[in-house]
Amino acid sequence: MPKVRYITNLSKLDGLSPREKQRLEPVAEKYAFRLNDYYIRLINWDDPNDPIRRLVIPHEHELSDWGDLDASREASYTPVRGCQHKYTDTALLLVNEVCGAYCRYCFRKRLFMNDNDDASLDYRHGLAYIKEHEEITNVLLTGGDPLIMSTRRLETIFSDVAAVPHVRIIRIGTKMVAFNPFRVLDDPDLLKLIHDYVACGTQIYVMNHFDHPRELTPEAREALRRLSTAGAGIVNQCPIVRGVNDYPQTLASLFRELSFASCPPYYVFQGRPTAGNEPFEVPIVEGWHIVREAKRHVSGLAKRARFVMSHATGKIEICGVDDHYIYMVYHRAHRKEDFGEMVVALRDDEAYWLDQLDILVGPESAFESAGTYDD
Ligand code: SF4
Repeated sequence: MPKVRYITNLSKLDGLSPREKQRLEPVAEKYAFRLNDYYIRLINWDDPNDPIRRLVIPHEHELSDWGDLDASREASYTPVRGCQHKYTDTALLLVNEVCGAYCRYCFRKRLFMNDNDDASLDYRHGLAYIKEHEEITNVLLTGGDPLIMSTRRLETIFSDVAAVPHVRIIRIGTKMVAFNPFRVLDDPDLLKLIHDYVACGTQIYVMNHFDHPRELTPEAREALRRLSTAGAGIVNQCPIVRGVNDYPQTLASLFRELSFASCPPYYVFQGRPTAGNEPFEVPIVEGWHIVREAKRHVSGLAKRARFVMSHATGKIEICGVDDHYIYMVYHRAHRKEDFGEMVVALRDDEAYWLDQLDILVGPESAFESAGTYDD
């Protein structure tokens, strides 16, 4: 396989008609477009509703006036540029602001816009912050996609982070195995890097992002196998995306195939109400039904993912829905005392986010955000 070629200009996309290109150009001007020729080959261009196409090709309705660019208020958990610290034991280093392609529903699309400086190639300030906070045992490299960087650059980051005595786990948040598995297949040095760090006692986790079973090509499966053989822990996390994986059968198939590929589902996210994402969002109640139905058809290993809302106050697991109420639990919480707290809200089939719900029971933090949603 020759080196993957990237496309950032819609006009270079053979699968779109000139009219479509013209119509979608303003969308790509507002929210960055990027794709590569490996992933283009996964698209069925004969199907206008093809889920892989929908994942990466701009959609006119992205321009609707809806949502917030920073829906989970990540800025408020950013003590120094390029570093987020929301949960006691985990810090994020946003080490880069480019991905193998751009998911149209990305909750961090603000990173790809001009004049945004949330990510930082210079991670020294973040590293200094992590050194000062002994409670941080996990560091997630994210962005953007860390695997877009060279292995040499990753090695430097690994070396600096692993040298912090209280850091035991380095996680790589990536969609590269889906977008371009040759990043792994063609780079034995990356596998050696992972192997060497795991052998010396720093656990490496690759937090993958597959949204649809068709992304699990033979090449992607082989890349997962090699990462696993090198010693990395591998898991998957993805949101529910309208038109991509919002059918229980599709999600069940994704869960099943991930379990066959030794990449167990870890989180399924309720889509955040991010600006530009309206066409991809699924309401909470519908999302819960989809996940429940999907889990009905798979083995225990394939259904370990928790269905959560990555809210400003914590990761809130959506546990149940009946005729009247939605039942949730704080699975992770910014305020330690909120962990494990139950949240009960009146059932609202139109609501996308906690802030739209009428909360009846819950910790103070949940009540503080109720009714603050602005659409
Ligand atoms: S890979 Fe992740 S960060 Fe990159 S565009 Fe997709 S969702 Fe956003």
